[in-house]
Amino acid sequence: MEKDYYKLLGLSRNATEDEVKTAYRKLAHKYHPDKAGGDEAMFKKINEAYQTLSNKEKRAQYDRFGKTFDGMGGGGQGGFDFRNFGGNGFEFGFDPSGFEDMGNLGDMFDAFFEGMGVKRKRRTYERGADLEFIQEIMLEEAYRGARKPITFKTHIVCEKCAGLGHFPKEGFTDCGACDGRGEIQESRRTFFGNFQQVRECKKCAGQGKIPNKICGTCSSSGRITSEKTLELTIAPGIADGQVIKVTKAGEMGERGAEAGDLYVRIRVKPHPVFTREGDDLLMREEMRLVDLLIHRSVEVKTISGEKISIAIPQTFTFGEEITVQGAGMPHLGSHGRGNLRIDLRVQIPKKLSKKAEDILKELKGEL
Ligand SMILES: [Zn+2]
Ligand SMILES: [Zn+2]
Repeated sequence: MEKDYYKLLGLSRNATEDEVKTAYRKLAHKYHPDKAGGDEAMFKKINEAYQTLSNKEKRAQYDRFGKTFDGMGGGGQGGFDFRNFGGNGFEFGFDPSGFEDMGNLGDMFDAFFEGMGVKRKRRTYERGADLEFIQEIMLEEAYRGARKPITFKTHIVCEKCAGLGHFPKEGFTDCGACDGRGEIQESRRTFFGNFQQVRECKKCAGQGKIPNKICGTCSSSGRITSEKTLELTIAPGIADGQVIKVTKAGEMGERGAEAGDLYVRIRVKPHPVFTREGDDLLMREEMRLVDLLIHRSVEVKTISGEKISIAIPQTFTFGEEITVQGAGMPHLGSHGRGNLRIDLRVQIPKKLSKKAEDILKELKGEL
């Protein structure tokens, strides 16, 4: 069947863009399939005509060749693509009389899709919220790893009803508000006419049935607010600012829905002796000049609490760092360790006694 888009919209060949728009709106309104007296075949044809004539390029092609090349103009059976409906193929920049407000467009398309038999998902109960806490630890705990009990207020499962919010043993009654369907059909008035819209039944939350006995302890939510304690496992080597995720340890979901996750951000308290740089630990140690000269070693306490004696290399010069391999922080999740780096400060005596000066003078040739 040869189609004349201009004839279809009741337009002359030199109709302006505005005239195309106006004619289309009038006819779309008239033939909309959800409207009494609507005509789906006509509605599709009108849309097809409009898709072509409202687009400068397509219209030029159509005028020249009697068709367009992207498939929209051909076929004649269901060439209208509903996915185009909310996109550029349609224009809404007109006086929205007939719309309740422009914000309802989304609803209108929902209604449109539902009218086309697109099934909407039934409601599932809300997942519990994720929770985030900050946990302070000592550097020693970060070094060894730790198990720390943490206590927080959250939603937990209602024990009375095992999180269901009701008692299934007591049976169910079909919901009177939706006749057991879980959804309610509503008529909505839009620019295109009246739509049948399906919405979830609020009374039974889309379930179609109502429990005969609900749980009073949790007011049927399946969860109660309570303090919860769990033991947090902190792996050796954890660093300041790292986050531990405990899956499903967050807020309990509504009526048995999935729990949220728990995120614990670790704060490592500043240490009086050590500062951390990656997995290396830095410390400053002071020693007397005489100890440097006589003992050539220094004793320090490491992060593990162990006292170690470190030989000072012959090549040592003031301001040089002394490194103790493997005496730093453990690498998180692997064997290896960082190093302990000692900033060794040698105290030069401010004032020498007469005796010390005399001895040093004697030693002058030896040093
Ligand atoms: Zn209902
Ligand atoms: Zn309960």
